[in-house]
Amino acid sequence: MPTTAGPSLAERLHAVLDSVADAAREASRDAASITTIVVTKFHPASMVRELHDLGMRDFGESRHQEAQPKVAELGALDATWHFVGQLQSKKARQVATYVDAIHSMDRDSLVTALAGPVLDSDSLDVRALDVFIQVNLTDDPRRGGVSPGGILPLAERVDGASGLRLRGLMAVAPLDRDARASFAEMRELSVGLMQRVPAANELSIGMSGDFREAILEGATHLRIGTAITGNRPAPG
Ligand SMILES: *Cc1c(COP(=O)(O)O)cnc(C)c1O
Repeated sequence: MPTTAGPSLAERLHAVLDSVADAAREASRDAASITTIVVTKFHPASMVRELHDLGMRDFGESRHQEAQPKVAELGALDATWHFVGQLQSKKARQVATYVDAIHSMDRDSLVTALAGPVLDSDSLDVRALDVFIQVNLTDDPRRGGVSPGGILPLAERVDGASGLRLRGLMAVAPLDRDARASFAEMRELSVGLMQRVPAANELSIGMSGDFREAILEGATHLRIGTAITGNRPAPG
């Protein structure tokens, strides 16, 4: 019998979901208004299946070459797939055939690549793609995301593109700054966006280390990896 085993997947998941519920209560928010996406990158399809058995329905991936076969293997699963990583324009249409949402929209060329009908890889139905504009809160242009000043022009492009549904904003909190302050900035940027596109009222903020702060600032989508999955194996 293993004596050094850490908490199980189910235990980690329930600890996170309890903390999400606690933070929602602290923020006087309904926990049901917050979607917890489990970021399963570098983990096998079998873990997604286990998480699905535990009741989870939203999963996040960040690399096309890993995500495509994983989603295909799990084709029959009733799940919503979120693409959260940086996306090459030339891969974008392929990614759009198997994901439901892209959280990393950050440039015009991606809008051009994704606009127009994309057929679902299974059903061959035309699918509407949910889009979050990623905001770069650092001064480092190599990070994914548009600068805050670039949000509204890009939002208008997405909003005017057929097949794309602008849902809101996404960000990764910079490490060198208080996460709560970053998320407060995102909340303000979201208010500005909603004045232009009222339906784009969602906020994809909060990861393993900062989801409480994100919930307090209005997160509607949390992207949580390691706190649920445990440490990621080395990328394959
Ligand atoms: C990997 C990843 C996450 C999850 O990170 P954790 O710290 O493991 O929770 C969230 N968002 C993005 C964009 C990621 O690439």
